[in-house]
Amino acid sequence: MGERVQKSSADEWDQVWIGAHVATMTNNGSAYGELKSAAVAIQDERIAWLGSTAEALDQAAAARRDIVRDAQGLWITPGLIDCHTHLVYGGNRVAEFEQRLCGASYEEIARAGGGIQSTVRATRAATFSQLHESALIRLRRLMAEGVTTVEIKSGYGLELAAERRLLEVARDLGERLPVSVRKTFLGLHALPPEFAADRQEFVNRVCGPWLETLAAAGLVDAVDAFCENIAFSLEETAQLLEAASGLGLAAHVHAGQLSDLGAAELASKWGALSADHLEYLSAAGARAMAAAGTVAVLLPTAYFTLRQTTPPPVGLLRDAAVPMAVATDCNPGTSPCSSLLTAMNMACTLFGLTPEEALRGTTCNAARALGLQDEVGKIAVGMRADLAFWRIERPAELCYGLGANPCAGVMHRGRMRGELN
Ligand SMILES: [Zn+2]
Repeated sequence: MGERVQKSSADEWDQVWIGAHVATMTNNGSAYGELKSAAVAIQDERIAWLGSTAEALDQAAAARRDIVRDAQGLWITPGLIDCHTHLVYGGNRVAEFEQRLCGASYEEIARAGGGIQSTVRATRAATFSQLHESALIRLRRLMAEGVTTVEIKSGYGLELAAERRLLEVARDLGERLPVSVRKTFLGLHALPPEFAADRQEFVNRVCGPWLETLAAAGLVDAVDAFCENIAFSLEETAQLLEAASGLGLAAHVHAGQLSDLGAAELASKWGALSADHLEYLSAAGARAMAAAGTVAVLLPTAYFTLRQTTPPPVGLLRDAAVPMAVATDCNPGTSPCSSLLTAMNMACTLFGLTPEEALRGTTCNAARALGLQDEVGKIAVGMRADLAFWRIERPAELCYGLGANPCAGVMHRGRMRGELN
């Protein structure tokens, strides 16, 4: 870092924030990588300098003083990263939610055409602008909590045109709003009814022409599969991972949500960026992930919504030194949640993560889960200036409040989204 510090001169800074407490999330020996009464200088869209407020004032004295901004004791963290969402979909499942609580069984609801297939029908029927409008509301809620990068999966179209529309909406949201979007083709999410009699043909299309078409259109950063007894097998998942690897695409796998099929090992074997859920994971699975550098993405709001009782084996993940990320899994069925701070709270209260682990889970480890660890997720010289400003006493407060949003401001690519509040 020293070398780059010397290269940056205060004359070149566009802005310097003084009087901040900075949770850098780097491994500088202190909790949260924290720097008290610190200053952060920004040049274009990058972090150009990091040091004490006194030093910054010294340096900036020679430059224009109008670049100095006073953070007035706010905490600054890396902009938060929600690395697992199904943010774009048609309709919602609120009627089912109510029916279930009024006594209907899952089976009755499924027989009446409910569940994931009802979201598929609503998604196929929705126009681009209808999908865009509803996703925008959820995305704005995430952004209001300091989110600067979000991963968005397709997977409710299950036919080429509808999958393409979902990914186009995701791309458009990232182009229009001050937030970075990563697009994931969740081709193997559920088997659509028209392929009920020929699942292999569906898998072949997803892994062949559909993936190739969507990737050629620049709509796919990574692929994903729901590997589970009620969804797709290890063999079917492997077919998609192999196809993605052939096209040079990254991968994620929904693994071990309801049972341990060995999906974490499979994800690791193919070098997937992440294996997600992991309520059911063996020590061998955790070791395989550690060896491959595959991140464990924990989704506590889905666990909460499904009222599951077996949490992910966090002790195993810690012992194996698997990096843990935390995300919302925002989706209409099992996690109608557009609050990453709530997911961080539940990662602590339900899964036993420490607040520091939860914040690493939505910053540096979430960046790693998206392959973006050299760009975002830490506050260090050369990293992108994606920052969140918080009116809190200490970083653990981000995990402590339920329904609280202490976000005072957000910077994306070196630009503030409005003034501090
Ligand atoms: Zn998911």
